[in-house]
Amino acid sequence: MSGDPENPERAAVNALAGDFLAGLREWLAIPSIGTDPAHHGDVGRSARWLADALRRDGWPDVQVWDTGPALPAVYACRPAADPDAPTVLVYGHHDVQPVDPVEQWHHPPFEPTLVGEELFGRGASDDKGQIAMHLLGVKAHLAAVGAAQPAVTIKLFIEGEEESGSPFLTRLLDDHRDELECDLVVFTDTPLYARDAPTICTGQRGVYGAEVVFTGGSSDVHSGRAGGSVPNPATAIARLVAALHDDQGRVQLRDFYADVVEPTETERADYAALPFDENVWLANSGGAQALSGEEGWSTLERVWVRPTAEVNGIHGGYTGPGLKTIVPASASVKLSFRLVPDQRLEQVADALREFVAAHTPPGLRAEVIPRGDGVPPYAMDVSHPAVGALRDAVEGAFDQPVRFSRTGGSGPAALLHGWLGVPVVYLGATLPDDRIHAPNERVVVPLLLRGAEAAARLWRLLPERLS
Ligand SMILES: [Zn+2]
Repeated sequence: MSGDPENPERAAVNALAGDFLAGLREWLAIPSIGTDPAHHGDVGRSARWLADALRRDGWPDVQVWDTGPALPAVYACRPAADPDAPTVLVYGHHDVQPVDPVEQWHHPPFEPTLVGEELFGRGASDDKGQIAMHLLGVKAHLAAVGAAQPAVTIKLFIEGEEESGSPFLTRLLDDHRDELECDLVVFTDTPLYARDAPTICTGQRGVYGAEVVFTGGSSDVHSGRAGGSVPNPATAIARLVAALHDDQGRVQLRDFYADVVEPTETERADYAALPFDENVWLANSGGAQALSGEEGWSTLERVWVRPTAEVNGIHGGYTGPGLKTIVPASASVKLSFRLVPDQRLEQVADALREFVAAHTPPGLRAEVIPRGDGVPPYAMDVSHPAVGALRDAVEGAFDQPVRFSRTGGSGPAALLHGWLGVPVVYLGATLPDDRIHAPNERVVVPLLLRGAEAAARLWRLLPERLS
């Protein structure tokens, strides 16, 4: 191995990069689409591929958890030489999104194709590329420190149904409490802010969704015969939606902001220092024409650290061609709320029911139907020593200052935190424009190599920082 005494992790990563890429391409060729029952066999193949790769790398304890009802997950443990060293659990997923519309792919989604620095294929970024990055990171760590065992005990927990909303994750966590015991979770399913602005994600918003249905009569009725004499459910839904925000963009549910923890000065300063181009943001936001949102907060803050209420869909009455003069019997709206620490799902659900009750006119019946279980929000205390170690590791690997970021979307970090009772830090090396879940998903290979180097540095730094 070509040695660079100043930077042994980078030297090791560079020496292993060819093998890394060959392995990742093999794995990406397995269409592990967890949301499609026709591909559940492939999810199993993908799990076994990962297990075999780990065994080849010398991991002494590798298990495929495939006894159902969860789709096959992979667990592996590589103990530290020092039995008192901390234990980290790397979380990720090996299932991938469907590929429709497949005709929009420039290369077949399961024939991974390298174009320059970019590797195209479903799962290249979300999340197989980042899991492969960790396999490389562990190998580079061992090579860099010249040991057979890592400086921390490293466990991998790679689930197979994240893209399906992790329906049986709590069951896996419950069934495997002993194996999954750890001091720190390293969550690897989030991107950097930008290629020229690497960041450490420190939290994800939660989400709560519900449908509100207003029902009047048992059938639509002629608007000339009854209109003006009975309540119109569609009008009532429109009034409910209009009342959801005030003129400053603040959500009007009772106590909606009471538990919201504001970001620290450090975090706000970091967000403000990130490059932000309004036109690019708008272009990446479905071609929106203007920014809008809660007054007093920047766009990044609105998306990362502020809670929201969104109308996802609204339905009522006649929407076909021409005109149909009716008072509809019912109307409905689908709502979702993005939540931030320390908002609680139950509190928001209760407040929504109260809000709906207060906005239900006499003569209409209201139903509030929760959609899904909801996902709690999570954020990491940025003064925690593990965050400091991570920041140093990522800065060392990327050769530049690294700022804090968050993601506006939701994931199982809060759930892992709640069940395992340990802090969760985020290590990712992909990009927001990797087109995950869309045609032509790609990953930028040099970033994955940097990410592997960051992981290798983190394993070296952690024992001292967490002691
Ligand atoms: Zn993912």
